[in-house]
Amino acid sequence: MRPARYREQRDGIWRRRLRVSAALLLVAGLVFLGATKLEWHRPTGELLHAVDALGRTSTIDVHLADAQTGLSRSRIEIESGGTRTVLASAEYAAASWRVSTVPETTISVPLQAIERKIPEGAATIRVYADDYSWLRWFRAERPILEAQATIDLTPPTLEVLSTEHYVTIGGAEFLLYKVSSDAIQSGVQVDSYFFPGTSGMFDDPGIAAAFFSVPQDLDVKTVPRAIAVDAAGNRREVNFHTVVKPRHFADKTLVLDDAFLERKVPEILAATGSPPQPDLVQGYLFINRTLRKQSEERIHQVTGTSAKTPLWDGAFLRQPNSAPLSGFADRRSYVYQGRIIDAQTHLGFDLASLRQSPVTAASTGTVVFAGALGIYGDAVILDHGLGIFSLYGHLSAITTQVGASVVRGDVIGRTGETGLAGGDHLHFSVMLWGTHIDPIEWWDGKWIHDHVTAKIDAYPHTTVTARRDG
Ligand SMILES: [Zn+2]
Repeated sequence: MRPARYREQRDGIWRRRLRVSAALLLVAGLVFLGATKLEWHRPTGELLHAVDALGRTSTIDVHLADAQTGLSRSRIEIESGGTRTVLASAEYAAASWRVSTVPETTISVPLQAIERKIPEGAATIRVYADDYSWLRWFRAERPILEAQATIDLTPPTLEVLSTEHYVTIGGAEFLLYKVSSDAIQSGVQVDSYFFPGTSGMFDDPGIAAAFFSVPQDLDVKTVPRAIAVDAAGNRREVNFHTVVKPRHFADKTLVLDDAFLERKVPEILAATGSPPQPDLVQGYLFINRTLRKQSEERIHQVTGTSAKTPLWDGAFLRQPNSAPLSGFADRRSYVYQGRIIDAQTHLGFDLASLRQSPVTAASTGTVVFAGALGIYGDAVILDHGLGIFSLYGHLSAITTQVGASVVRGDVIGRTGETGLAGGDHLHFSVMLWGTHIDPIEWWDGKWIHDHVTAKIDAYPHTTVTARRDG
């Protein structure tokens, strides 16, 4: 009997071991399943921008994520004036029994408040999302994100006050308008150019003034429009009467020789810290294209803010005793060894006189730039207010500094040939918020009177200095 008892004992031990192993396996399986499918954390949601001012064209942008099982569905709702509107809802497929195909996603949903008849005023945005956790069957539905919003569908009001607008291609014109106080931006849109207006100049704080241009690269079919935008992005566009006059710009050919390239190209590349170029012609093209573009970008940075009242005083002063070498917006072709290698537009006047002549401020203003400026060499930029700036390039010496106030005729430097200049001369530009405009209008006291001062004087104001038209 001993062997049989022994067998029984042995089988008993094995059965117990088997049961323990099965139980352990079951526990391990349940732990694994629980860890995988009983994910405790709900999905997270985040608004990608503020919703305190939602307008006609606003979108609501939400980032959703679920780290473990991934997203199963989402829904974005807005409640306004007692009505709930579902703005977006989505279901996300499972990739396996364990996880979703979508661990995270960004939803951008247009509010379309007018189309969806969502009323203006206070609103609540609620975002709902679920994951692939089994716990989702037991969870009460509550938003993972709730935010208070304000819906504003009314654009600012804008009324054009000035009546006469005659602008020549490449030149400027002046607009007066009245805008409601909710506007955060207003001015004149001309194709892709935007010219901001300035308020605070008139006794009526609602009146704003904006210079605008139909820049030299546009044509007479261009239609300038007054615009105003509020914090919710609602945009008012108003057409006003403008006559755009045509203009022909001169075609000029510049012949480049080796002596010029040898003298200027290494000098400018070194002075501007530009990358080394394979040869002189490539170096010249880098300067004439890339560095020219970079110089204009720098000008736009420098001319981004301007005095809120006119600082200029009558007609601009033209560099004394100087002869023009080239005019505004000449179309230049660059010829090397008998063939055209480049074409650029010359955005200013080149004025030549004696070498190292004193350079005078064209009008009263503030120095906003004094130093190296790419193709313009050593240069000075003055702010004359309301977005009007003047630029003095290729200087051999600068005798003023940023922040200084200058008056018409003050000496600010000496002419030279720094930067992309073939000989001693002054490059003079007038710019509107960094866009070059024709200086000829600014040398003409009658033009300034008729287009600007007469319009300003039609409305009560106390702070304007631009009274002399001589
Ligand atoms: Zn020039």
